[in-house]
Amino acid sequence: MYYYSLNEYLKKEFGQKVYKISLNGNMGCPNRDGTIGIGGCIFCSSGGSGDFAPSGFMPIGEQIENAKQRIKSKYDGDKYIAYFQAYTNTYAPVSYLKELFEKVIDRDDIVAVSIATRPDCLQDDVIDLIEKLNNKKPVWIELGLQTSNESTARYIRRGYKNECFEIAVRKLKKIGVHIVAHIILGLPNESEQDILGTANYVAHSGVSGIKIQLLHILNDTDLYLDYQKGVFDALTMEQYIDLLCKVIERLPQDMVVHRITGDGPKKLLVAPLWSGDKKRVLNNINQKFLKINLKQGRLFEA
Ligand code: SF4
Repeated sequence: MYYYSLNEYLKKEFGQKVYKISLNGNMGCPNRDGTIGIGGCIFCSSGGSGDFAPSGFMPIGEQIENAKQRIKSKYDGDKYIAYFQAYTNTYAPVSYLKELFEKVIDRDDIVAVSIATRPDCLQDDVIDLIEKLNNKKPVWIELGLQTSNESTARYIRRGYKNECFEIAVRKLKKIGVHIVAHIILGLPNESEQDILGTANYVAHSGVSGIKIQLLHILNDTDLYLDYQKGVFDALTMEQYIDLLCKVIERLPQDMVVHRITGDGPKKLLVAPLWSGDKKRVLNNINQKFLKINLKQGRLFEA
């Protein structure tokens, strides 16, 4: 089974391996502070889905230097992608965003900036800023879609309709940034048909990248309460890999697949516990890809 992996994309764009470092821009989320909702998306931890990011109170330069120190035993290159992951990274006055992102993008060691945000937090002045930044170095905008099923979107308290995502994609496409849609497999009460519906939706949405993530049940979330009540079951590894293959099959071959799994923060993860063993999960995914390729008479590398 072939998919356009992030590594392949990075090599093509930057000519070498590039390391992504998680940063914290110290922003909140309108889906938590009452502007759109209170309590946030049902699966989101108190760390705002950025549990691997440093404290937002640390100056950004220090966050970058610390991250470089931490990974120096496994990465001997000198190019990094600055990844703003925690909370909603365009939820601040544009003057704040400008100062923060320019400080990062103007560094020689940063080759691209990846900004995770909500489609309803991309007002025109923010789009203008992103366009200017993208003229300096590539900017990736990650949008947390999670599902295209409106009824699931209400259950997970996503706080916006699909139309809002579509408008944001159109605006971002106009300024030529790399857009990544984030989807979650295993959301409560979603059938295989729902999940594949989301895959088809993303495939035709105009985004150029996708992050596919298993639903993690974390113990400081409202999702955990529903899990405890037996409202839904967590996916098994076999179920996840089977769905993953079917999702990938529906994507255009030039869509960059940024992630095919993910390990939740171990101290918070309640289920599925198998996802904590990332190496085993990736091995099993690769084996399944290989099997599919052999069956289809293809010799793509998994
Ligand atoms: S939009 Fe992001 S940060 Fe905000 S509650 Fe949802 S997942 Fe968490």
